[in-house]
Amino acid sequence: MEIKIAKWKDNVQSPVLFMIDDIANVLMKQSHSSKLKIGEDWGYATREKNSMWHFLSKNLLDKFPKIKTTFFLVTDVRVSMRIDETYTYAKSIEQDKKFIEFLRYLDNHPMVELAYHGTTHGKAGLTYDDYLQEWEAFSSLNEAVTQIHRGRELFQEVLGHYPSGGKYCGYKAGDFGDESIAKTNFKWWSYGEDYLKWDKNDPNPSYTFDLSFNRGVVNIPTTVDSSTLSLRIINKWYKRKYLKSIYYYFIKNMSIEKHLESLYENQEIISIYEHTSPYRTDGVIQYPNIVSDMDNLNYIFSILSKKDVWYVTGEDLANYYIDREKVKLEVEGHRFKLKSTTKLNGELTLIIDKSYSLYDMDNNLLVKSFEKNQKYILSYTFEVNKTYQLRM
Ligand SMILES: [Zn+2]
Repeated sequence: MEIKIAKWKDNVQSPVLFMIDDIANVLMKQSHSSKLKIGEDWGYATREKNSMWHFLSKNLLDKFPKIKTTFFLVTDVRVSMRIDETYTYAKSIEQDKKFIEFLRYLDNHPMVELAYHGTTHGKAGLTYDDYLQEWEAFSSLNEAVTQIHRGRELFQEVLGHYPSGGKYCGYKAGDFGDESIAKTNFKWWSYGEDYLKWDKNDPNPSYTFDLSFNRGVVNIPTTVDSSTLSLRIINKWYKRKYLKSIYYYFIKNMSIEKHLESLYENQEIISIYEHTSPYRTDGVIQYPNIVSDMDNLNYIFSILSKKDVWYVTGEDLANYYIDREKVKLEVEGHRFKLKSTTKLNGELTLIIDKSYSLYDMDNNLLVKSFEKNQKYILSYTFEVNKTYQLRM
């Protein structure tokens, strides 16, 4: 009897993550009007009209209710890019009652996960080139670990639990990054911007569109930059980003559509990367951002909505991966066990060759299999080291 563990839950082609940084208690006004304009909010304006969350919900999440969004939270006062610049408003996450309530609302929202994104995001410089991202600024492992603990405590104070994962600020690990993450109880981490390497034959072996362990922490790669515009988003034809897409298409024979298709065909991770606000303190527009990319995001998610994908948070994905990698399948005739030293985090999917159902050894039916691409699929929250049987 043929039986194996599926790469992803329900044997889908690809997991889909939607990862947005930064969410912070920050406001960056562009106009002198007292009214909030779209793009000015990094989280501070909570659920008000034209806030980041209001804009995102109305224009994307309400249309695609299966999406899961992972927000990366800056826990302390986010620094400006240069020391002589300021935000309109910037406070730590536990400073305002309204912001705390908003974070709790998001934390309980079925479409949202809050993850860790440092304390101040870095150190402001005299010029932009002097700006140091948070992990670049640490001069020892001890300093990095101490600061992460401080940030995790702030997170815990407001939300009542610790973050399960996070992401480097500016994707910069510094000298002590990976070691500091391994030492501070994270289950998963977003280490790098792997989407830059679209070429699979690239000799650089460091790129990945799939999961791996980094010192015991699940490495979730970033594989899609959503400011890579589809050439179909013609209302952006005058933008530099559009020209870049034309260049990719005609010179490298690449497009966002082809890239998505390649990830999907290979059962790789589709993790879409975004920023909340386009506005930085130095006046530079940061890309990608949800405001500039909203049409492209709608286009990407409408492609994905017709496909066999699994919308996940970082934690969902890490849980499945850890279980899949940890258990050993022991099959004897129609009986089997999942051997492991620790219990499973959640459901695991098996692929079997016939339309069997899952029973325990007392002949109780636990779950029926379903057919998918001429195979049979079975998802269940198994107990480890317990014997199960498969029968018609
Ligand atoms: Zn960031």
